[in-house]
Amino acid sequence: MTRTEVLIASAEANSAHNYHPLPVVVATADGAWMTDVEGRRFLDLLAGYSALNFGHRNRRLIDAARAQLERVTLTSRAFHHDRFAEFCAQLAELCGMEMVLPMNTGAEAVESAVKTARKWGYKVKGVLDGMAKIVVASDNFHGRTTTIISFSTDPEARADFGPYTPGFEIVPYGDLTAMREAVTENTVAVLLEPIQGEAGVLVPPAGYLAGVRELTRERNVLFIADEIQSGLGRTGRTFACEHEGVVPDMYVLGKALGGGVVPVSAVVSSAEVLGVFRPGEHGSTFGGNPLACAVAIEVIAMLRSGEFQARSAELGEHLHRELAVLRDTGRVTQVRGRGLWAGIDIAPAYGTGREVSEKLMDRGVLVKDTHGATIRIAPPLVISKEDLDWGLAQLRAVLGV
Ligand SMILES: *Cc1c(COP(=O)(O)O)cnc(C)c1O
Repeated sequence: MTRTEVLIASAEANSAHNYHPLPVVVATADGAWMTDVEGRRFLDLLAGYSALNFGHRNRRLIDAARAQLERVTLTSRAFHHDRFAEFCAQLAELCGMEMVLPMNTGAEAVESAVKTARKWGYKVKGVLDGMAKIVVASDNFHGRTTTIISFSTDPEARADFGPYTPGFEIVPYGDLTAMREAVTENTVAVLLEPIQGEAGVLVPPAGYLAGVRELTRERNVLFIADEIQSGLGRTGRTFACEHEGVVPDMYVLGKALGGGVVPVSAVVSSAEVLGVFRPGEHGSTFGGNPLACAVAIEVIAMLRSGEFQARSAELGEHLHRELAVLRDTGRVTQVRGRGLWAGIDIAPAYGTGREVSEKLMDRGVLVKDTHGATIRIAPPLVISKEDLDWGLAQLRAVLGV
């Protein structure tokens, strides 16, 4: 057996089978490239589902982490530490908001947003206790906790995990009329991904996000944008909501906020909304720890320059031009996305998403399939144009173009 086979067999024997990874075992990584235990190199066109927007082991982020490792890494929120204020102030400023609630993973941040919205509903909006409703979209992906999968429409994510948390209303994504009908006086929030990542990079119809903004403002309902995957440069802007000139009431951030180094997530909102919490009502041992803050402060500084957003916009235009050519060959039935982010539906005659992903792996390119026919391309924003073109050439070769 090869070293790869030994390690995969051992992992399968000793870990829950809640993933179906491609058969590659990564040992090291740098920028847009990973090297496996056999010394083979792979171009990373997934970037940890956007957790690696700044590439693997980005120099600035590793330096920030290393410097913090030499000072203090964890205090818990029982005490203040000297990176916390800076992190919160800078993240609030980047978002054009006032307050930050730091957590670790995306799912925790979504849970925190749900709790925030409910509390705001009872304390500020005046909804009767226990009656709060949150409107969500079909085909959403907001994480894996019992409450979050309660409002998933994906049978794989939900089945056998009940009983489910009540208080959510599901409407078709992109359907403003359905949303308008679902909102009642008990609705405290609408929770949406401005572009649905896991669903296959689904971009809603033009005007949808602006329409949701108008509706939620009219009805005194919080608009919560889950920008965990779409935010922080991925679509060519800091936030995907910006493409429709929309500012939500609350951003939920994660993934790239931790720079591919540590898990960092946050809810960012106004003082009116996040001001509802009192000591002891919510928390996290690791949320806002010094190491997380140090890395995130550097991430925010990098985003403030705008260079990564500009790069994503520019290379993204190139990517989508090339993918449109591929679509015209009939090998691909649909391409969606914005910036350096694309969902590509493979025509059935040319293989499933999984088969295409495996063939790309054999050619040194790593992507991940989703929902059968789709592959998702989300390279690190630091990828060079040459590497991106090489990756696209491999995709054309796999599809026989
Ligand atoms: C990944 C993701 C989450 C969950 O984040 P975890 O860190 O895996 O818990 C939530 N929402 C969206 C849109 C995501 O892409």
